[in-house]
Amino acid sequence: MGNLLLEKDQEWAKQFGQPIVIAGPCSAESEEQMLETARRMDKNYINIFRAGIWKPRTKPGSFEGVGEIGLKWLNNVKKETGFKTATEIANAEHAKLALEYDIDYLWIGARSTVSPFIVQEIAEALKGTKKPVIVKNPVNPDLELWIGALERLAAQGIENLGVIHRGFSTYKKTKYRNKPKWQMALDFKKRLPKIPMLIDPSHIAGNRELLYEVSQQAFDLEYDGIMIESHRNPDEAWSDASQQVTPERVLEIIKAIQLRMHSSDNSAYNSALQTLRYEIDELDQGLLDALAHRMKVSERIGLLKKENNVAIYQPNRWDELLEKAKLDGEKSGLSTEMVEKIYKAIHQASIEIQSKIMIDKK
Ligand code: PEP
Ligand code: MN
Repeated sequence: MGNLLLEKDQEWAKQFGQPIVIAGPCSAESEEQMLETARRMDKNYINIFRAGIWKPRTKPGSFEGVGEIGLKWLNNVKKETGFKTATEIANAEHAKLALEYDIDYLWIGARSTVSPFIVQEIAEALKGTKKPVIVKNPVNPDLELWIGALERLAAQGIENLGVIHRGFSTYKKTKYRNKPKWQMALDFKKRLPKIPMLIDPSHIAGNRELLYEVSQQAFDLEYDGIMIESHRNPDEAWSDASQQVTPERVLEIIKAIQLRMHSSDNSAYNSALQTLRYEIDELDQGLLDALAHRMKVSERIGLLKKENNVAIYQPNRWDELLEKAKLDGEKSGLSTEMVEKIYKAIHQASIEIQSKIMIDKK
């Protein structure tokens, strides 16, 4: 199973000869709404039509999906327009129905990926299917849980797999509805390089303005495709209205995305890149040397505090230090968020060193 995830080439993701583009409404509302949306989508750029039939909603009382009849509508979209179809399944019953109606692509939503019980029951219901199953990241940033879901599917002989980065819930409000974690997505790719990764800019952004920016960021990291929500009349959508766009806008976004090549054989580019990389390597070495030096100084401070019986943590000193670093960093064009993260890590390490000295009997 581990071998399958590591070794199998996921041909399904390469069949279009271009990045996979899945578009369609957040929710199926009526057959006419689906047909019109699909008719207005450009088949040269969009490969798969999506619609949510069963909708996981944060609050009860919101529109929870049209249910089984939506699968029939999806099939009619396919019959009339030729688009392949995709829908979300959130339990074994959904999985069985989606297979029965022969939906082409199935995805597991973020709220299902968090639950090993749900993923297991879906995997068993789909046992041996050749249909691609695409797993959205869990709502919490847990890489093992995400990979574990793929392992559960693979263990049931489901071989055509993919994932979608749709961002992560945060308590603090940010400019995103669900904050992307690019580093985690890269870590995923490092662990399972053959599993295609799609971006879902709609659920990351939560609004129309950020869709292009998020999509481009993903393709800069060589994502394999995109799933984007599109409605014939976005303002009137029964769910996720603020993040849906018309099929015409989807096309504009897709056309505007610059695809980056994995590498280039342009020799001027390669030698310029090499030079810059040497520069980075040297700077990184300097950073490590400076950190090592700083920790030595922390050690001496620890000893001094111990000799004089003074507490390790001095909140005022730490507040001042961090504020100054953020200001200085800003003047040098560094993001305060980055400076804060780095300083917190350094401060933490420094405290650990001093604690060790304090408890040391010598
Ligand atoms: C969806 O794609 O409509 C959906 C419910 O997404 P998520 O699972 O990412 O919240
Ligand atoms: Mn949605």
